[in-house]
Amino acid sequence: TDATAPAASSAPSESSSRAAGKELVRFDNVTKRFGDVTVLDQLDFCVDTGKHVTLIGPSGSGKTTILRLLMTLLTPEEGTITVDGQYLTHEERNGKLVKPSDKHVREVRKKIGMVFQHFNLFPNMRVLRNVMEAPVHVLGLSKDEAEQRAKELIELVGLSEHLDKYPSQLSGGQQQRVAIARALAMRPQVLLLDEVTSALDPELVAGVLDVLRDIALSTDITMLVVTHEMSFARDISDSVLMFDKGKIVESGSPDKIFSEPEHDRTKEFLATVL
Ligand code: ADP
Repeated sequence: TDATAPAASSAPSESSSRAAGKELVRFDNVTKRFGDVTVLDQLDFCVDTGKHVTLIGPSGSGKTTILRLLMTLLTPEEGTITVDGQYLTHEERNGKLVKPSDKHVREVRKKIGMVFQHFNLFPNMRVLRNVMEAPVHVLGLSKDEAEQRAKELIELVGLSEHLDKYPSQLSGGQQQRVAIARALAMRPQVLLLDEVTSALDPELVAGVLDVLRDIALSTDITMLVVTHEMSFARDISDSVLMFDKGKIVESGSPDKIFSEPEHDRTKEFLATVL
């Protein structure tokens, strides 16, 4: 199978109009262990600017670990990760491994936005302030500019009528839409979505997926998505990476993966979720 770099970017794309093929996220030979357990095993892949790549595979196959490595919540035991050509991990220079400074990592981290399974909004702040807070305090935007940007994004996620509410006054689906607006307010180059609908009541899932589908199809933001929502994955993905036991067992266009999977593990997995 084609489980080697650049698996994601070499897959056929139906969205050639998007910002052209510059490599944005790159994993080289990344191994992550927890104690004796190898969770990611010499993983190579890359994601080009503007592409939407979905990670699928059974629970425990390492998908969330990839997102957590990108968020620098974890560090790999081996290998390197770059975002926009800048190292998030130790970098090899003149045969020596050099640790990036905290300041460097913070700068690279600003290129990455993430939406989690549990929305993690600031409970004591109204919707508008939840979305304005980081642009003002982390990016140094003026309050006026941050407010304008926040209002546009809150409109994009369909919550203009709820600017003044507190998170506890919103449904889970609405809270997750605020979390999406909040992540986008930082203008990340890459948006990471980790099972963003799996904590929601079933009737709230479609509204969140609709918003994300709109964002995926109407903006050129790069996305790395972990989801069990296969029809959503099919709609938005340029390529799909199928994981098992910390390795990519198969990758390709959504049509190939969902309609003509080659690998037995992919067929077995899809049989459980489709
Ligand atoms: P997935 O997202 O595909 O369900 P994960 O990346 O969450 O998989 O987890 C991969 C494996 O790593 C699982 O076996 C999980 O139990 C283990 N794991 C994840 N985080 C930790 C941790 N902090 N400590 C120990 N084991 C962990």
